[in-house]
Amino acid sequence: MTRVLVVEDDPQLVRALVINMQARQYGVDAAPDGTTALRLAAARRPDVVLLDLGLPDMDGVEVIKALRGWTRTPILVLSARRASEEKVAALDAGADDYITKPFSMDELLARLRAAVRRTETVPLAPETTLVRTGDFTIDLLAKKAGRDGRDIRLTPTEWHLLEILVTNPGRLVTQRQLLQEVWGPAYATKTNYLRVYMAQLRRKLETDPAHPRYLITEPGMGYRFET
Ligand code: CA
Repeated sequence: MTRVLVVEDDPQLVRALVINMQARQYGVDAAPDGTTALRLAAARRPDVVLLDLGLPDMDGVEVIKALRGWTRTPILVLSARRASEEKVAALDAGADDYITKPFSMDELLARLRAAVRRTETVPLAPETTLVRTGDFTIDLLAKKAGRDGRDIRLTPTEWHLLEILVTNPGRLVTQRQLLQEVWGPAYATKTNYLRVYMAQLRRKLETDPAHPRYLITEPGMGYRFET
């Protein structure tokens, strides 16, 4: 049974979530605040955490940071906040995905399934070195990309970016995470670098670079590799 920890201070929403998830055979625990959430997470070891960012006792981002001190359990953020900075802060702190309130229950459940599924595939097992899409292949061990039996030449920077995205399939990787990883902490806000290099990668890999299928932009947030 998949165990879900719901961290939310709105009792009506908690009730709706619990009913819907229990009907689908999830085991559900609920915490109305951050302190209870941290205690329950340690005691119950949930497979996934649904986390409201606006909690009565602490900011949801602090809950994420505390959880990430000891667990890789996927965290799906529920946010009423429209400001993308809040979501980016949550993702940078280690959340895996976010969903904006109000949301449909079907959408939430789909995101929940995806988050749980990713823990089964991410990080890629060490023996997984070949990633295939419908249009190109990426050999992580040989550091080669190819299409129709031909090599696609990538620069070291392009390769580094691609490698991060490909080894986090389906996961939104923030601009800051990519910039810090590839260029270093001093470049964390140089989003124009990303635009340039992502455009180059799309030209080399995507069949229709103007309408990418694999290297997806989440505007103002980051990028996602979809297979
Ligand atoms: Ca709230």
